[in-house]
Amino acid sequence: MLKLEDSYIHKGQRKSLIDLLKRKGITDPAVLDAMNTLPRHFFFDSALASHAYEDKAFPIGEGQTISQPYTVAFQTSLLDISPGEKVLEIGTGSGYQAGILYLMGAQVHSIEYNQKLYETTKKFLSKLGIRIKHYCGDGSLGLPDKAPFDKIIVTAGAPVVPKALLHQLAVNGKLVIPVGDRTTQKMMRLTKKSPKNILQESFDNFSFVPLLGEEGWNKADL
Ligand code: SAM
Repeated sequence: MLKLEDSYIHKGQRKSLIDLLKRKGITDPAVLDAMNTLPRHFFFDSALASHAYEDKAFPIGEGQTISQPYTVAFQTSLLDISPGEKVLEIGTGSGYQAGILYLMGAQVHSIEYNQKLYETTKKFLSKLGIRIKHYCGDGSLGLPDKAPFDKIIVTAGAPVVPKALLHQLAVNGKLVIPVGDRTTQKMMRLTKKSPKNILQESFDNFSFVPLLGEEGWNKADL
């Protein structure tokens, strides 16, 4: 069992990671502050905790990963979060990304497909005092009952932009989603200028685990 202790060594490692993110071009002070505050090693299995402040993705069980810190910083910066905004995250995973959004003052709704990860992460975030709404299900369909959302972030690689997510975005809302094949995806940001006018921007390539579900990949084809 991992002891939840945030030592001065961890704090120093976290500060070095933040400096690295700045050198890689992350400038949003709110993103950097949240990532400097939330101990990433809490989200690791004790056997891997010494790697928590490397800029790498790591396994979290169930064949899934905690995203690379640069990826979390990049996606969160693209979302351009203001406190109080209602944000939908697809792919709760370890809960780290949700924790960053929570610390930035967002009202976070996060949905995870894998039942075991959903249960473990829900308990864990509550233990850390990170209060978000958890759902278990196919996030490629969004959460129609809770829409509209000011921001939507997808943390798994999608074959296409799910129509349901665009539909559930508020006017002036932003959807940040990696779209591509099973190994490489382009980071996309879609801004809903009006119900029929969507501004689409594309950024660098990333490599995510696949988004499963109705508007994602079919598990049997992977
Ligand atoms: N945001 C996570 C974090 O901070 O640890 C990292 C997410 S991991 C890269 C991708 C997650 O998306 C996995 O936990 C996976 O089970 C989940 N996932 C895949 N398809 C999904 C779907 N259709 N709906 C919800 N979650 C999905």
